[in-house]
Amino acid sequence: MLWGCDTGPNTISGLKAGFKSGLMKLTYRFQCPERPYYPGKFHIRLAPDRSFRVGGHIPILFAAICFPELLWTGGSRKISHQILSGGGCLTPPPRHNTIPRHQQGRLKLFDHIIARDSSTNPITITPIVESEFQSWLADQSETTKAWVAANGYEAKRGTQLALPGSNGAFGSVLIGYVDDAKAIWDFAGLPTSLPEGVYGLSDSISDNAALYEKAALGLYLGGYRFDRYRKDDGKKDKRAKIALHNNEAAKRAENTARGIGLARDLINIPANDMGPAELEAAARALGEEFGARVSAIVGDDLLKQNYPAIHTVGYGSDRDPRLIDLVWGDADAPKITLVGKGVCFDTGGYDLKPSSNMLLMKKDMGGSAQVLGLARMIMAANLPVRLRVLIPAVENMVSGRAYRPSDILKTRKGLTVEVGNTDAEGRIVLSDALTEAASENPELILDFATLTGAARVALGLGLPALFSNDDDLANGLMENGLALHDPLWRLPLWDEYRPQLDSKAADMNNISGSPFGGAIIAALFLDRFVEGAKSWAHIDLMAWNPTDRPGRPTGGEAQGIRAAFKLIEDRFGK
Ligand SMILES: [Zn+2]
Repeated sequence: MLWGCDTGPNTISGLKAGFKSGLMKLTYRFQCPERPYYPGKFHIRLAPDRSFRVGGHIPILFAAICFPELLWTGGSRKISHQILSGGGCLTPPPRHNTIPRHQQGRLKLFDHIIARDSSTNPITITPIVESEFQSWLADQSETTKAWVAANGYEAKRGTQLALPGSNGAFGSVLIGYVDDAKAIWDFAGLPTSLPEGVYGLSDSISDNAALYEKAALGLYLGGYRFDRYRKDDGKKDKRAKIALHNNEAAKRAENTARGIGLARDLINIPANDMGPAELEAAARALGEEFGARVSAIVGDDLLKQNYPAIHTVGYGSDRDPRLIDLVWGDADAPKITLVGKGVCFDTGGYDLKPSSNMLLMKKDMGGSAQVLGLARMIMAANLPVRLRVLIPAVENMVSGRAYRPSDILKTRKGLTVEVGNTDAEGRIVLSDALTEAASENPELILDFATLTGAARVALGLGLPALFSNDDDLANGLMENGLALHDPLWRLPLWDEYRPQLDSKAADMNNISGSPFGGAIIAALFLDRFVEGAKSWAHIDLMAWNPTDRPGRPTGGEAQGIRAAFKLIEDRFGK
């Protein structure tokens, strides 16, 4: 099986007999257990001189086998390499009418904790403000008082107590909380600690929309799990389910949770199932859900359409780099553009990362996960904006084609960049995307990127660094972040550090020679490519929870997108 996969035969059918010049349509089934989701069609356009054009690796491979006498034109090293090596599971381009394995659980996100059956009488969750517990207790029956005393319960925030009903069955659940920004997390422990059953929030808080939204969001996020790679233990449906009120606050919480859940899933899916093509498929699936137009410029087309920086970084991988472009909303509405770093795996390139640092690098597309999650929130809320999402999606790998330290590369803007370090690849791919974003002169550009370790050194893992050319934007994001407990912290675009990006050989270097202020240096690099933008913020984030906390399990995390959504909603909402 020259073209196939090691583990099974492939079939090819529907071949049109003879091949004159023109368009030929072929059907194939790729029976590879690793990639069962790529049956599909492809076409070959045969020119009168017997040269032909096809897209993607698989079609080229098939063509080489089926039509060996055809003239190869523009045959790249990539093609001949794959023909010579044969075997192995190759990654064909995504087929948009199939659901890739990594998305099969997408529609089920949170569904395992949402009770849809309204006939069930839910067990009441009664929220109690920690400071008002004693006055609440004074009004209760002697039995309840005795039960509370026996359990030593004081309604401390995030603590719960089950109260027995009159017949000894489950009566209700008390949950202590404090009505501040962190109230979300007070509720988040419930879904995993309550026994099987259907639970609903007490009517007592249904009139307080802000609190209800926080409680509902906590319940949703408390139910988030990433278990699609694990054997079904049969317990999936034997967990607590939540029945929320049919109110606006519950809907807002659900939209927020689905945006966050999408971001977490995309990050948590490992790089073998989340390469540039799969990230594109995820963007297309999201676009389909909300009627957005999604396109992608892939592989060598990046050069033809002047995205040389994205091409250079991604060329070292066998998985084609691409620029993913999602557009949604009324063309006349205020333009908002989100840009997300989509480095699906970052080895560091020839400036290879040590293994301990490489281990988490499936999360280096965390910026793209943020912008897709945020885009989902914006589209689900139907905000009156023209939304554009740009994701440079690449893998930073080591190979005979990979870029080297000291290479000088071109960018879309025309500036040349000397590569001081191949591990500072995020800013390089972002440069082309930001140039394109700024060319439309949108009202707002937000970029999210897992860009520097230096931002983590400065602010720790839980506090993304925020940079902006617009004080109002920066202040708004910071205020929202604190109010919603989705914090960001501003660092300066410190002018005096700009010369540190000077290069003797090119227009600029991608790193500074100094080990200090690395997050600021990276932001100053990006700043060169959004020159003249009205309002731009760059968010340098971790996108990962290092420890388990209620509602915030270890793994991929959304950071700053609730703060950003609130700002966009306040500025541009109805
Ligand atoms: Zn890197």
